[in-house]
Amino acid sequence: MAEIRFYGGEEIPLELHKVRIVQKLDLVPVERRAEAMAEAGFNTFLLKNKDIYLDMLTDSGVNAMSDRQLAAMMVADDSYAGSATFTRLTEKLTELFGTEYFLPAHQGRAAENIIAMTFVKKGSIIPMNYHFTTTKAHITRLGGYVEELVADEGVKIESDCPFKGNFDLEKLEKLLKEKHDRIPLMRIEAGTNLIGGQPLSLENIEKACDIAHSYGVLTVLDASLLQDNLYFIKTREKAAQNLSLREITRRISSKMDIIYFSGRKLGFARGGGISIHDKALYLKMRELVPMFEGFLTYGGMSVREMEAMTVGLEESMDIDVISQGPLFIKYMTDELIKRGVPVVTPPGGLGCHLDATRFIPHVRQEEYPAGSLAAAVYIAGGIRGMERGTISEQREEDGSEHLAAVELLRLALPRRVFTLSQVKYAVDRISWLYDNRNLIGGLKFIEEPSSLRFFFGRLEPVSPWPEALVKAFRKEFGESL
Ligand SMILES: *Cc1c(COP(=O)(O)O)cnc(C)c1O
Repeated sequence: MAEIRFYGGEEIPLELHKVRIVQKLDLVPVERRAEAMAEAGFNTFLLKNKDIYLDMLTDSGVNAMSDRQLAAMMVADDSYAGSATFTRLTEKLTELFGTEYFLPAHQGRAAENIIAMTFVKKGSIIPMNYHFTTTKAHITRLGGYVEELVADEGVKIESDCPFKGNFDLEKLEKLLKEKHDRIPLMRIEAGTNLIGGQPLSLENIEKACDIAHSYGVLTVLDASLLQDNLYFIKTREKAAQNLSLREITRRISSKMDIIYFSGRKLGFARGGGISIHDKALYLKMRELVPMFEGFLTYGGMSVREMEAMTVGLEESMDIDVISQGPLFIKYMTDELIKRGVPVVTPPGGLGCHLDATRFIPHVRQEEYPAGSLAAAVYIAGGIRGMERGTISEQREEDGSEHLAAVELLRLALPRRVFTLSQVKYAVDRISWLYDNRNLIGGLKFIEEPSSLRFFFGRLEPVSPWPEALVKAFRKEFGESL
């Protein structure tokens, strides 16, 4: 996506692609939206697609594919073993990362399972800039502990720090010095998901890896959101301005012992896997793939998706392709700021993040502000976001609530999927909701699973606030959807 100056002075992102296949969408009336939210137990994961207008839940597996990806799917080589498609995917990863070995997995969390089962033992400590939900679940399931070492700026909602995903290198050094014998690996999450898709700088990644290696600790990159992180390094880091995306990728990957990713994000397709430089490390993890995923040349993925992923990985090296997400997110974030809506700044990758703590300060954290805001945004606009706050945390071992550091509602912008008028609609409905924020109340659990409760937990409002919201909507918008 090019930065093109408009004669009229308007600042909007301009697409460098055209739409050739479309999917019809419905926008159901606000009364039906309130009903659907109740049916879904006030959990946006449990909504049905037919009730959703803009699905901003996630960027996972829902990015638009290119014509070249679809064409590649037609030549996929479908064989159980020795598939030529797998060879092409491995060669692409070798070209981009310089890694010699690749273990396929059906998606990112399956790669996490394999890595955790191989390296994490009871009492292990896994330092990382910030956790991701599935990553933490795999580590704690095996009796390990997650140590988050993101710099303090990372969890500040409003900031002008360009690299909020950076490690606090002093804390990292201290932890490694004191406890390196309990630390099998350090995890680096590119495009740090749960704090708003925030990147690390190339400099910070390189320094963190050097520190880990000086204590004999393996470095593991979660590259699921590498694409956005590459864009931010290229556009925000002075020392990287003259490096190509390929060169930046190589600089990062050469510091890693293991690189894993969700192909649902990184490759504009569906799948995942683990890239490795060293043969011994590869062999250590290899047998888990046929046991849990599928044979070594597909690992639970469809060959068509692998073929699409290969092309998608190549397209990730094109700035016109990878800038689309961040530029749309920047547009949405800037427009919301103009209307006074509290959001995470600077805009990151993967989506626009509303700050529920300031949006609805009257809702106590024990009544899940981010979850409440998710329900309210859906009722107000048929827009499905994802709660990234206390509901997404796990309870402590003693059953007490673990209050999240931040209460965010993520509105993901899947890559190349939405048009600018749809983004404008979302901005409009969210700013209406902000002006009526006093109507929004809290939630409480009525069914609470013990792990990954945000996926299937069911809640209910603590007061009849959804009805009040529907009434206010009708008063404002009349017969409009
Ligand atoms: C999505 C994601 C994962 C998990 O990948 P899935 O393909 O959804 O299993 C892991 N890490 C990060 C940073 C992610 O964004």
